[in-house]
Amino acid sequence: MPLRPLPRHFGWLTPAIAVLALALGFATFQFSEERGIDALIERGRQRLDLYEASLEREIDKYAFFPATLGLERDVVDLLLNGGPDRAAAINHYLEQLNQRAGSLSIYVLDATGHVIATSNWNQPDSFLGEDLTYRAYFGDAIAGRNGRFFGIGTTKGEPGYYLSSPILIDGRPNGVAVVKVSLEQLEQSWTTVEAPVFVADENGVVILASVPSWKFTAVRPLDDRSRGELARSLHYNARPLPPLGLLPERVMPRRRAELVDLQRPRDEVAQVFPVSGRFLAQTEPLSGNGWTLTVLSPYGDVASMAWTQAALAGLGGAFLAILAVALNQRRSRIHERLRAREALQRAHDELELKVEERTRTLKAAQDELVHAGKLAVIGQMSAGLAHELNQPLAALQTLSDNTVKFLERGLMQDATSNLALIGELVAHMGTLTSQLKSFARKSSGTPRPVPVGRAIDNALLMLDRRLTGGRVTPDISVEPAGIAALADANRLEQILVNLIANALDALDGSVEPRLAVSAVKSGDRVQIVVADNGPGLTVDARARLFEPFFTTKDSGGGLGLGLAISAGIARDFGGSLAAIDSESGGAAFVLDLAAAQLTEA
Ligand code: ADP
Repeated sequence: MPLRPLPRHFGWLTPAIAVLALALGFATFQFSEERGIDALIERGRQRLDLYEASLEREIDKYAFFPATLGLERDVVDLLLNGGPDRAAAINHYLEQLNQRAGSLSIYVLDATGHVIATSNWNQPDSFLGEDLTYRAYFGDAIAGRNGRFFGIGTTKGEPGYYLSSPILIDGRPNGVAVVKVSLEQLEQSWTTVEAPVFVADENGVVILASVPSWKFTAVRPLDDRSRGELARSLHYNARPLPPLGLLPERVMPRRRAELVDLQRPRDEVAQVFPVSGRFLAQTEPLSGNGWTLTVLSPYGDVASMAWTQAALAGLGGAFLAILAVALNQRRSRIHERLRAREALQRAHDELELKVEERTRTLKAAQDELVHAGKLAVIGQMSAGLAHELNQPLAALQTLSDNTVKFLERGLMQDATSNLALIGELVAHMGTLTSQLKSFARKSSGTPRPVPVGRAIDNALLMLDRRLTGGRVTPDISVEPAGIAALADANRLEQILVNLIANALDALDGSVEPRLAVSAVKSGDRVQIVVADNGPGLTVDARARLFEPFFTTKDSGGGLGLGLAISAGIARDFGGSLAAIDSESGGAAFVLDLAAAQLTEA
């Protein structure tokens, strides 16, 4: 079906479909984004658990080291009694222990915070004898607690995790054992994952990060006071602690996550994984030390996926809407067409009914006309009839009077011949009246074979008086003799009477009147021609011949029904009546009928 432009009342459609597409796109974006965030959070949580476990495992490996050192008798002995030999022995012991444990350094502080033995005793950067009272892990341990501290070494500037325990003598802390471990290996294993991760300590300073440049940046801005304190304790060994650059965009408390924008210097962007842009941040506190572990999942994929799906949904929605409209239009068009077809069918049926009704009325009117025509002919003929009957009546009167006289005189012979004449006259009058009766009767109308010759004879007989009285002798020919036409005898005679009577009328003033009635069979048709050599037909007459009530005759002369009725009858039998110019100069009428086979024996 060719695409038609939408009707005008569909003008609201385009904006409606646009709104629908936008709404669908928006809803899909929301849905897709939420689903994407959910998936990110799920994966982020798994990572958090994994990193937390690995970090704790790494630290736990060394957790009991300082405490077990406090159980060494030699260490306690050194604390109690001192002496270079004891110190040298412990130094060696700590050096070996450090090597085997894979820690950065192991050392022992006395109650005043001075290093009295250390694994790096023979190194150039050895801090043997150094005062470390400013370190928080010393304060914690000497107060009887286990110390945990991430910091940067003051001598080598090496970052490390310090674990400290008090060395108890008689139940009181008399010294401190410290192990410093590196978490660098752990950090290196983190750099291989696609989502950055970092650990911030209790001050909000990044101490471990999968992106090296993030280390020793501040997650949250540090105020001057805490900056001063950190400087004093040489906690980060005078590092500048610039901000990490995390800008919170959307907090999602129910999901314990945050959408953040990470603003990092350009040179960092060329890393393996994204280190700049929008991330979904998930932070989990680590047990026991006030640290937090944060996993950043790149958010870009979620957003672009949501955009793509929103665009697809919007386009899809618009497509479906257009499809629905087109289908609906098509359906209503088909519906319309069906309705139109039904209306047409109804109109057609109605028309057929009307035509049928009209035909019936017309037929009835025609029958009436035929009847009226017959009556008109009778009227026309009544004068002749009166004359026709008056003559024999007058003769009868005379004959009967004479017969009475003959009988009175006993002249039986004369009386008998008179009575025979009377009988003949009565028979003649009977023929006349019976013909008249049959002519006036309405015919049944069912065509049957009618011998054409007999119909011509009967017609001429009906007009006998005019013919015998006049000067015209009809010239009759039937070729071949005995042909029959499909008609009704009465009505065929009626047509012929009309045509012959018209011819006789036309011949009224002729000097040498001639009338020819001929019947010819050609193929399955029979043509009966009534021709005269009268004045012929005028142009006006020829145009209106078959109109009812068209007549050129004086009032009382004709009703103008004869030809109209005759043509109607001819049509009824499947034939036709037409006027032509006669060869002899006057008018000729051709009656064309279907030829028939005579069935009578
Ligand atoms: P009517 O005879 O009552 O006038 P018709 O219908 O029979 O009615 O004829 C109509 C008219 O056709 C006649 O009045 C006459 O003018 C013309 N007409 C019919 N037959 C002939 C004929 N043979 N020659 C000339 N005119 C004729």
